[in-house]
Order: sequence, then C-alpha cells, then structure tokens
Amino acid sequence: HASEAELDTRKLIVERRKKKNRKSGGFQCMGLSGPVLRGVLRKGYKLPTPIQRKTIPVILEGKDVVAMARTGSGKTASFLVPLFEKLQSHSARTGIRALIIAPTRELALQTLKFTKELGKFTGLRAAVVLGGDSIEGQFAALHENPDIVIATPGRLVHVSFEMNLKFQNVQFVVFDEADQLFELGFAEQLDDILKRLPEVRQMVLFSATLPKMLVEFAKAGLFEPVLIRLDTEH
Ligand code: ADP
Ligand code: MG
Repeated sequence: HASEAELDTRKLIVERRKKKNRKSGGFQCMGLSGPVLRGVLRKGYKLPTPIQRKTIPVILEGKDVVAMARTGSGKTASFLVPLFEKLQSHSARTGIRALIIAPTRELALQTLKFTKELGKFTGLRAAVVLGGDSIEGQFAALHENPDIVIATPGRLVHVSFEMNLKFQNVQFVVFDEADQLFELGFAEQLDDILKRLPEVRQMVLFSATLPKMLVEFAKAGLFEPVLIRLDTEH
C-alpha cells in the first residue's frame, strides 16, 4: 500500500497536470481560423467545455461522430465551431452546404441565434425552415443562397419536395437532440433526408441518450462513427 505522503504527492501531480491541460486546452490551441476563433471569444467562451474539447478536434478531422452529453454541456458550439471551420465563408454558387436538423422550432431558433453569434465574423448565411412559419417566407429565404439550413424534419421534407430542392452540395449534417427527433416520431422524415444526401458527407449526431432506434439510425447513416460519451463522467 502507498503511504499517505505518497498519495498526497500523486494527487499533487494529477492536479498540476489538470491545470496544465486547462491552460493548453483553450480554443486557441484547436487550430481554428481567425474569424471562427474571434466569434467564440466574442461570445465570451474562454475555455471549451468537456464535450467541446472532445468532439471539436474529431469533427475537424472529418470523422462522423455520435456524441452523448447532458443538456447544458455546450453541445451547440461542439458542432457549430467545426461546421464554420469546414465552410469557412459565404458562397453564393454552391447552395446549401450544411444542414442542422432539430426536433423543435424553439431549439432550431436557439441554434440560429448561436449560429449568428458564434459565426458573426465568418460571413456565413443561415436560413431556418420550420413548421409553423409561413412557407412562402421559407421559399424566399432558400432562394437567397444560404450556406447553412437549420430545420425541423417535417417542414424540411415538405419544402424541399415543393421546391424540388436537391441536397447535392450538402457536405455536413448535424442531428441535434437526436433522441428527441425519434421520440417525436420523425423517423420517416429522417430516412427521407438521409436518402437524398450525397454519398460523401460528414454526419454528426448529438443526443442526451442513446436509445436502440438511434443506434440503428447511426448504423444506417453514419460512416464508422466515433462514439464520444460524457454521461458516465463526473
Ligand atoms: P446543450 O446543447 O448541451 O444543452 P448549449 O450549447 O445550449 O448546451 O450550452 C449551454 C449554455 O452554456 C449556453 O448558455 C452556452 O452559451 C453556454 N456555453 C457553451 N459553451 C461554453 C463555453 N465554452 N464557455 C462558456 N459558456 C459556454
Ligand atoms: Mg443543445
């Protein structure tokens, strides 16, 4: 058995290492481009949260990710930061390059707010496609070449059908609160969206829980996803 003094020394070493990691583990060390880093700092984020620290580098590498973490852990920036990095700046020629699928209007609008704040210096344009809003307004918004579309599944399927909208330039897809997407009965719409995506694309799935249906969906739609879970950590 280790003596008390030895245990104290070990504790001290662990504490020092933690401190050092905290210092070197800022957003500044993630290799982010100027406009993206500025947006994060302007929003007042000084250090990445644990889920951001774990997911951002892996998503930046281009891997598909299934990430599980509780509400309030900072999942929005976990996908927005690498998404901005991937898209870089506004492009009027390519059309929609990123899709963010959310289960509810409220969450989608919240995500739009984060997109505007964190993406302030990127010049990227976002549009929302949500049930409950006028569909004409959404047609108009989609004609203005948004880089990012934040949508609820039902309305996205409806609008893209009506506009004969192809997703051929979509390279990045986020399913936020994915467990909710299934609980609210969007399985059919999600499959429909999956079918229309280009074969080469990056997909990330964020969820608080990982029910069986979600595992099946991830197996069908994601390519060798990296599973990142913080639910068991303290
Ligand atoms: P989740 O999607 O996991 O529920 P959010 O992305 O909504 O979490 O973030 C929860 C809150 O924490 C928000 O107010 C957000 O601005 C804040 N937040 C996120 N990341 C950071 C960070 N790195 N530093 C400080 N605050 C943060
Ligand atoms: Mg969230």
